[in-house]
Amino acid sequence: MDKPKIATASLAGCFGCHMALLDIDDRILKLIALVDFDKSPVDDIKKFTGRCLVGLIEGGCSNEENVKVLRDFRKHCDILISVGDCAIMGGLPAMRNGIPLAECLNEAYCSGPSVYNPSGRVPNDPELPLILDRVYPLDEIVKIDYRLPGCPPPADTLWEALTALLGGKPLNLAYELVKYD
Ligand code: SF4
Repeated sequence: MDKPKIATASLAGCFGCHMALLDIDDRILKLIALVDFDKSPVDDIKKFTGRCLVGLIEGGCSNEENVKVLRDFRKHCDILISVGDCAIMGGLPAMRNGIPLAECLNEAYCSGPSVYNPSGRVPNDPELPLILDRVYPLDEIVKIDYRLPGCPPPADTLWEALTALLGGKPLNLAYELVKYD
């Protein structure tokens, strides 16, 4: 019988939540026995190869490419999970939300203390994904089924959540597995 598939992505995140997943240590072997990884940086599969039971997303949406990837995950995954504080509420990247976008770009590319840019131009090649006016939590763009808080969520939390969902059980994490730091 075919194993269920899971997919993962990092949007405006730091890959720390993916590192937390790898932190399940040798349980990764049990996970591989239970599932196949589909589109994910873990196996470097770039496009969905079929329907996935679970999609794990770290990071919020900071540019149009993030939104495109997120909608693609919603389309292909039965259960979509916001993993970590960036996905749930924007996290550190959302610190720019209180500053006008033009001011952020000017600081990053023109007037920041470590910037050398004699042209004074902000990169605007059409190939670059458009930056959004602010960083959006995932659930402001698509329906999210579960949220695993933390920066990052502990490996044990990810393990318990995945094994419950893969076993068709409701997600009912013990109090000590739900962290907000
Ligand atoms: S929640 Fe923390 S660990 Fe996860 S992507 Fe954001 S900053 Fe990185």
